[in-house]
Amino acid sequence: MLRGKTALVTGSTSGIGLGIAKALARQGARILLNGFGDVQAPKAEIAALGVEVDYHGADMSRPADIEQMMQFAAERFGQVDVLVNNAGIQHVAPVQEFPPEKWDAILAINLSSAFHTTRLALPAMRAANWGRIINVASVHGLVASAEKCAYVSAKHALVGLTKVVALENATTGITCNAICPGWVLTPLVQKQVDDKAAAHGWSNEEATRRLLGEKEPSMQFTTPEELGELAVFFCSPAANNVRGVAWNMDGGWAAQ
Ligand code: NAD
Repeated sequence: MLRGKTALVTGSTSGIGLGIAKALARQGARILLNGFGDVQAPKAEIAALGVEVDYHGADMSRPADIEQMMQFAAERFGQVDVLVNNAGIQHVAPVQEFPPEKWDAILAINLSSAFHTTRLALPAMRAANWGRIINVASVHGLVASAEKCAYVSAKHALVGLTKVVALENATTGITCNAICPGWVLTPLVQKQVDDKAAAHGWSNEEATRRLLGEKEPSMQFTTPEELGELAVFFCSPAANNVRGVAWNMDGGWAAQ
């Protein structure tokens, strides 16, 4: 379905981003990976799916890096047809104790980076009259939790940006939608499990059960593979007129 198209997935060296990149690769898309840490293993996983893959190490907190990455994508693959804004970080603390530099970093990586990639990707998408912009927000783009002021603010704003981009392109072949996962067991969430276990003296299993039990009625993690399939749906012709939605895949979290 996506043969001949190029997908850029930010923060795709692990977790949800890698899951989405693999799902798009299975549909034939060329993949540009981005993120920190080990690059060789994710690159090999994508290449094994029979598509071209490359990597750019832009730090998504830096607009100049993002410009370089978008230029690299255009030179390497022609243009970005599918843009998945996924890179994100978390920090947990009450507002009065929240380090201002963590606030700035979360807003930059979880929100502003999507503005920059989107503004730079849109001209070529508009020229082609086709594009898919998928913002990985969170159930925290729809509802709040205590001690996550920067994350919840950034994710709510990302849902707002999603709607504006969808509206501005509503008469074109470019759609923009958000994915709002509940808990997904990635390094970002394992750290929260570890912190809970350490704070209360719980085992990993007990901390995991309590983390799910607090918020997620299904008591199940959503998987990167499931989120990848939702991204594939947004890229499909059936989703041509799905515009500006924030689609939660959250085990019933936001239904409560
Ligand atoms: P993860 O920690 O496994 O992956 C985050 C990715 O972002 C990694 O590839 C990392 O290298 C990259 N990254 C971090 N900072 C970066 C920077 N400055 N520049 C470039 N890349 C950077 O986390 P994840 O859980 O897969 O999270 C991916 C996205 O999904 C995030 O936006 C997160 O907010 C969102 N999300 C996660 C969950 C969850 O339960 N895990 C739930 C809802 C939403």
